[in-house]
Amino acid sequence: MDLFSKSKDIGEDEYRRARHRMVEWQLAGRDVKDPAVLEVMRDIPRHVFVSPDLRHEAYDDCPLPIGYGQTISQPYIVGSMTESLEPAKGKDVLEIGTGSGYQTAVLAALFGHVDTVEYIPELSRQAQKILLQLGYANITFHIGDGLKIPDPRRKFEAIIVTAAPGTFPKSLADRLQPGGRMIIPVGATVQDLELVIKDLDGRLEFQTLYPVRFVPLQHED
Ligand code: SAH
Repeated sequence: MDLFSKSKDIGEDEYRRARHRMVEWQLAGRDVKDPAVLEVMRDIPRHVFVSPDLRHEAYDDCPLPIGYGQTISQPYIVGSMTESLEPAKGKDVLEIGTGSGYQTAVLAALFGHVDTVEYIPELSRQAQKILLQLGYANITFHIGDGLKIPDPRRKFEAIIVTAAPGTFPKSLADRLQPGGRMIIPVGATVQDLELVIKDLDGRLEFQTLYPVRFVPLQHED
């Protein structure tokens, strides 16, 4: 598979311009400020994570279908959620909901290591292909229920969940290091995006950011 050679494509220069406009208008033009997040999202070719017939919409201000009833998140949501985690190369992050792999790429460019879990094997395999072809070497892929794998005793400085549980899964909070941050949508059809910060004594602080609409988190039990 050559990611950059589809005849329907409008050309890499045009995609780059669309990507820069996306960052200026949809991210910086709203409230995403972290220069590293903005730079990474100016660089990463979002269009290779969607099917060829949707590539011309890859930089639009909306989510897009990626098959299996799932969606690639709106660019603003990716930038805003990533910024809220305070990414740094010295931190490891757990992502639940690999989906297209685009958010995974953004995380891999900003964090030391990414563990990403996807429930639907076909989506995980597709994302793995694209991310390997783009050269990322700091991602571990897992297939299954992100609430159960990887090893639930392992702890992370940051956790991002991109599918919505009906209620806050307390077991996930145990996987945050003291001082760690988690971003997660919680609720039924429309959810609240919750930023959960664990202080150095292990206490949790919840900040409700804004309403969002994610696909439901699948449960195995
Ligand atoms: N960040 C992704 C979002 C994909 S949609 C992107 O922008 O492309 C959410 C994804 O979460 C879907 O691919 C869905 O299959 C996956 N998912 C749902 N429940 C899950 C679970 N319990 N564990 C891991 N992945 C899950």
